[in-house]
Amino acid sequence: MDDIFHPDVSTDPYWWLAAKPTAEGSSPVPDEADVAIVGSGYTGLSAAIELADRGFKVTVLEAKEFGCGASTRSGGHVSSGLNLGKGPSAAKPSPLISSLGQDRYNGLLDEASQSMDRIQMMIEREKIDCHFVIGGRFVAAFTRGHYKSLEAKMAVLDHNGKAGCRMVPREKQRDEIGSDYYHGGMVVERSGKLHPAMYHRGLLDACRRRPGITLCAHAPVTAIDANGSGFRVMAGGTALRAADVLLSTNGYSQKPSPWLKRRVIPLASCIIATEELEPDVIKRLIVHDRSINDTKRLLSYYRVSPDGKRILFGGRETFFTQDPLESGRRLFARMVRVYPELAKTRVTHSWTGMVAMTFDHLPHIGRENGIYYAAGCNGSGVAMMSYLGYRIGASIAGANERSAFDGLPFPTKPMYNGKTWFLPAVGAYFKSMDKWDRMFG
Ligand SMILES: Cc1cc2nc3c(=O)[nH]c(=O)nc-3n(C[C@H](O)[C@H](O)[C@H](O)COP(=O)(O)OP(=O)(O)OC[C@H]3O[C@@H](n4cnc5c(N)ncnc54)[C@H](O)[C@@H]3O)c2cc1C
Repeated sequence: MDDIFHPDVSTDPYWWLAAKPTAEGSSPVPDEADVAIVGSGYTGLSAAIELADRGFKVTVLEAKEFGCGASTRSGGHVSSGLNLGKGPSAAKPSPLISSLGQDRYNGLLDEASQSMDRIQMMIEREKIDCHFVIGGRFVAAFTRGHYKSLEAKMAVLDHNGKAGCRMVPREKQRDEIGSDYYHGGMVVERSGKLHPAMYHRGLLDACRRRPGITLCAHAPVTAIDANGSGFRVMAGGTALRAADVLLSTNGYSQKPSPWLKRRVIPLASCIIATEELEPDVIKRLIVHDRSINDTKRLLSYYRVSPDGKRILFGGRETFFTQDPLESGRRLFARMVRVYPELAKTRVTHSWTGMVAMTFDHLPHIGRENGIYYAAGCNGSGVAMMSYLGYRIGASIAGANERSAFDGLPFPTKPMYNGKTWFLPAVGAYFKSMDKWDRMFG
């Protein structure tokens, strides 16, 4: 074992120490439901809660333990729209402004902002204990050029003052971060963080409290066939009749919809947790306890753990799944580039999970061949996928509420069938572009 790892290093997410995914409260797959929901992450559970509150009988079908996907593995950064449609680098203007037009883009940003209100409301209403705080984010500029780009797009991101953005030049950078690695950055006050697995556990408990919701773990859905006016869903070998079906499988969308598989690109994201650090070290490294991400294409994102004792350092490295200890070594090297004083610190946890990218960098909700879907978090789904789960739930229930996400075309590419053979090449390209930017940008 490399000495960067603690002798008891775990490849389970650090978050699972407090809330490990379980099958507790699981029921056998019933014969029928009004709505069958495939996947038990934030999206599926948020949809289930909304539907049950509108009087629907819902069954949530999960392939493994509840919440074992991205929802209990994430960094727990809560964004109010900063990441919406941003494309590969946070420093560039969103490609959506030219493709959708500023008005539509503003409509999407409005809803991204509402997703923050919604998650806050749900945490309060359902009394979810998950260390939720709105403490702001620091977006660290990887190059001088990125700083200028952030400055240029700040007005759009600020969204009429709603996001609370302001620039921090390099000479003031140490007011935010104990590192000289970056070229200044932008503070976004309306940004938060939470404990992702405890938030998921809270949503699961909210489902358990609602008699209209049946939760089925270890019930992988293998087929969905039209059956009269509804569907026959095969889950864990049992057939369930449902009037409607929602796919909320995001980065784990292998089965049962080839249509969805052609539209999401599953991508690995990885995180390490350090051993406990001295309080003064933490205070020096992340001065105001904000969440931090940088503007690289292969971005890094990091924060302090809710107990204030560790740094959780995440990033996208190679895009494809790899041994968590291997990704841990790479992340550690990155972390030490930002914080050389952590060179002797040991890693206690190193894990990976899957996010779902899309060809237009946007998440999507809608209906295809009668089957509803909500997918494509593009790496940022704590608030957004919770919100879209709620929106699609309301839409299935027949609510007459319009969303800026309604009717957006969900693009794919010719020859793409869900196999991500191109990711190593894209990852290598992004890596070399990041190097190029760093040298000349
Ligand atoms: C390492 C990492 C870090 C991240 N950091 C952040 C962050 O800091 N901030 C942020 O906003 N977002 C972050 N994200 C993204 C965020 O976690 C996701 O957007 C969000 O959790 C998606 O929720 P979901 O319910 O759509 O999908 P998931 O939580 O992935 O749930 C999908 C579920 O579908 C199940 N499933 C798949 N196929 C089937 C089937 N056939 N039958 C039954 N069940 C099936 C899976 O088992 C899984 O449980 C991160 C993600 C990862 C992986």
